[in-house]
Amino acid sequence: MHIEVDSHTHTIASGHAYSSLGENVAAAAGRGIKLLAITEHGPAMPGSPHIWFFKNMRVIPRIMNGIGILRGIEANIINKKGELDIDDSLHPHLDIVLASLHEPVIEPSTRSIHTDAVIKAMSSGKIDVFAHGGNPIFPIEVDEVAKAARAYNVLVEINNSSFTTSRPGSDKNCASLAEAVGRHEAKLTFGSDAHIACNVGRFVECIAFVERIGFPSERILSTCCHRFITFLQEKHKTNLETLVALYSRPT
Ligand SMILES: [Zn+2]
Ligand SMILES: [Zn+2]
Repeated sequence: MHIEVDSHTHTIASGHAYSSLGENVAAAAGRGIKLLAITEHGPAMPGSPHIWFFKNMRVIPRIMNGIGILRGIEANIINKKGELDIDDSLHPHLDIVLASLHEPVIEPSTRSIHTDAVIKAMSSGKIDVFAHGGNPIFPIEVDEVAKAARAYNVLVEINNSSFTTSRPGSDKNCASLAEAVGRHEAKLTFGSDAHIACNVGRFVECIAFVERIGFPSERILSTCCHRFITFLQEKHKTNLETLVALYSRPT
């Protein structure tokens, strides 16, 4: 299995990551990534960039080192209503919005409250990816979340860092979540969640994971940059013309 899209990466702009955009792009190119999403943490996370950082991402070339660049954010779900830490004025500047539950931002609560918050975030139409949903700190009802992901056309992320450096104990929950995604015919994406360039585009653990549970590769959008761009078009993202032209047909 070859992965063409890394839908979740951080640079030094996130405050607790260690590589520049140029270093990340070079690392992605070295791993054969064709579409790279820059997804710094949203403003509620300590050390995250100022909102102007996100509004100015238009200065980043659409194509760097031959790789398509997606201007994104890892927004925070901030309450049980599923609200995000960004306001609507930011969305036109973004190609991809990940939403996550992070301990420094929202206190862990009950499975049912987490589930409700995630489904409300999905139903708002404001998010494209639910990130690192296997975190044992924030347990969820996987079938409910997977059903909502299908209904609202939101990708469920399998996060490579959850198997290596972050969120210990995620493995079992990731398996339950991915199996629910399969049952309800939703789709997965892979995010490296790299906080240093050497991990950008690294999906060894994600690939081994989906092979182990027998998840069908055609339901993993990050295997094809063309399908990933088509998904973003379905989500009514604007300003994607250059990337649409670059990946106008399956590569
Ligand atoms: Zn995160
Ligand atoms: Zn992240």
